[in-house]
Amino acid sequence: TLDHQLALAWLRAAAAAVEREQQRLTDLDAAIGDGDHGSNLRRGFTAVTEALAALPADAPPGELLTKAGTTLISKVGGASGPLYGSALRTAGRALPAPTADLTALAEGLRAGLTAVQKLGGAAVGDKTMVDAFEPAVAALERAAFDGFSLREAAALAAEAAQAGARATVPLEARKGRASYLGPRSVGHQDPGATSTALLFQALADATG
Ligand code: ADP
Ligand code: MG
Ligand code: MG
Repeated sequence: TLDHQLALAWLRAAAAAVEREQQRLTDLDAAIGDGDHGSNLRRGFTAVTEALAALPADAPPGELLTKAGTTLISKVGGASGPLYGSALRTAGRALPAPTADLTALAEGLRAGLTAVQKLGGAAVGDKTMVDAFEPAVAALERAAFDGFSLREAAALAAEAAQAGARATVPLEARKGRASYLGPRSVGHQDPGATSTALLFQALADATG
C-alpha cells in the first residue's frame, strides 16, 4: 500500500534520480528543445524535497503528491513544470486516505495523466511524456486487475515507461518545442518521456 512513508520515499528517490540524470535530460533537450529539461526538473525537485520536509508526519500520501505538484508548478518555468505539477496535484487529490492500495494508486495516476493530456493536448505517439506515462499507468491498471503487489506492479510500470520512452526515438514530435523541428525531431529520445521513466523507476525503487 501507498502510505506517507512510501510517498516520501518515492518523491525523494525521484529527486535523487533527477539530480543524477540531470545532464542526460538536458542533453536530450538540447538536441530537440532548448536544453533546460534537466535543470528545470532539478530546480523543481530540490524545492519539492524542501517543501515535503515541512509537512506533518501523519500527512496522507495524497497530500505529499499534491504538495509536490503545486511546488513544481510554482518553481518550474518550462512546459514540464505545469504538466508534471498537474499530474501530481490531480493524483494527490484523488488519494486523500492515509493509505491507498494499488487500485487507488492506478486510478489516481490515471487521473493525473488525464490532467496532463487536458492541459497539453498530447496523445500517445506525439513524442511527449505521455508516451511513457500512458503505458506505465496501463501497466499499473493491469497489475491491479491481476492482483499483483504494489512492488510487482511498480516494476512492471517502470519497464513499460522505459519502453515507451525508447519508442519515442523514431517519432516526429507533434507537441511542445520539439514539434518546431518537424521531421528533424526524428531520431532523438524525448526528454520528458525519459524523465517520466525515471519517475516510475523511482516508485519501483521506493517499493523495493
Ligand atoms: P520546455 O519545453 O518549456 O523547455 P522542458 O524542457 O522542461 O520544458 O520539458 C520538455 C518536455 O515536456 C518535452 O520533452 C515533452 O515530453 C514535454 N511536453 C512539452 N509539451 C508537452 C505537451 N503539450 N504535452 C505533453 N508533454 C509535453
Ligand atoms: Mg526545455
Ligand atoms: Mg525551456
